[in-house]
Amino acid sequence: MEETIRYLIRYLIRSEVPEEIYKSIGYTSEEEKFGLYKVVIVASPFFSDGTYGKTSSLPTLPLPELEGVPVLFGEPRIEQRGDTWIIYADLVAGAYFLMTRYEEMVRPEVHDEHGRFPGKESLPYRAGFIKRPLVDLYGLILRKILRKAGFPIEKVDQHFHNFYLTHDVDVPFKYRTWRSVLRALIKNRNLKEAWDVKTGKLSWDPYYKFPEMFYKFEYFKARVPFPCHCIMFFRSGGHTKHDRPHYSFKSKDMRTLLKFCEEMGVEMGLHASYEAGGDPSLIAKERERLCDILGKEIRWNRHHFLRSRRPEDMEALISAGITEDFTMGYADIAGFRLGTSREVRWINPHTRQLTPLVLHPLLIMDCTLSERKYMHLKFSEALLYSIELLHETISVGGEPTLLWHNTSLESDWCSDYNYIGWLYNVLVKEMVEFEAFDDYLNLE
Ligand SMILES: [Zn+2]
Repeated sequence: MEETIRYLIRYLIRSEVPEEIYKSIGYTSEEEKFGLYKVVIVASPFFSDGTYGKTSSLPTLPLPELEGVPVLFGEPRIEQRGDTWIIYADLVAGAYFLMTRYEEMVRPEVHDEHGRFPGKESLPYRAGFIKRPLVDLYGLILRKILRKAGFPIEKVDQHFHNFYLTHDVDVPFKYRTWRSVLRALIKNRNLKEAWDVKTGKLSWDPYYKFPEMFYKFEYFKARVPFPCHCIMFFRSGGHTKHDRPHYSFKSKDMRTLLKFCEEMGVEMGLHASYEAGGDPSLIAKERERLCDILGKEIRWNRHHFLRSRRPEDMEALISAGITEDFTMGYADIAGFRLGTSREVRWINPHTRQLTPLVLHPLLIMDCTLSERKYMHLKFSEALLYSIELLHETISVGGEPTLLWHNTSLESDWCSDYNYIGWLYNVLVKEMVEFEAFDDYLNLE
């Protein structure tokens, strides 16, 4: 637990802050110890034995605010006593609560038809801060108090520190198998198109949007002043209806795609199947299979359907040899599921132990914005919402991850609810000129 607390305080103040400053921060509820530190975060009873893990430990609404930022535990006040600054808001417990998905551990009975915790049930959504990276904002408050205590800490650099354009390969091709042509025949829909694509060139396939995606990535990477990554997540298992279609890595088309990924410097990860979401012990086999197929070590993962169901399921990723996971967004609402815009090490809320697994929070999944069962936003609303999230991320120096499926880029026209391909083009362009965000939001 001590290691976990140390990690959380370090995470809040960020790694560039020197060790001696870090050591001047205390986390205690014992008043007689306050004088030992320059800054004290007063520990609330959250971690105590009678409280931890109980439903009664969940914050009640409405939440009080400290400097406009909601406080989950403790009191929203700061005072100076002699040389010591005392923060009565328990920023450590608040960060822990969000980063570990504590409420999902305490409310296991709450889930949707896929076994996922719904974002609309979450505290960040119900309390109205799903669009704000609360943990990062806690960090800014702590850094500000350290400055007041006399430490030379600079303001956080307001730029993206990394950018992840990611794509889950659920359905790589629309009409490149005879089976898909047969389906078009049976359904009596688009038969001519299916026939032409099957007997024509791969690039004619409406789902084969990879060249467009990769060139967009190249364009983006060449113009932005921060590191960016393009990652493709491939499925390699699963027997449920949600794991169809199965694609063969041996097919000529798939080999062409993989070669193209290599040429373009695209990184690759496992897209753990829907079935493995239900039985995480299957992830190891799926990773092994993908490593064999691709002839390289695969260490990154995202779950199909974002079906990482319970916090403790992350254990299976570690056992399977996964070191970084990109699943952590809610399917039904875009925003900061883990309360942070930066990569974070997974803390198991059952054991309270820090683990080596790195989580990259997922900021926006394409269909979350448009689908009727999720947010069902119109184009203008989705654009504004996305830009607000990206703006929040920039303002705390975060690292956004976007998930766009190749199938979403099939149509590049824009109507009220059919705009996902178009939106991607607009967002990539806007991010290149990201000062333009201010025009949308009328910020200074
Ligand atoms: Zn998927």
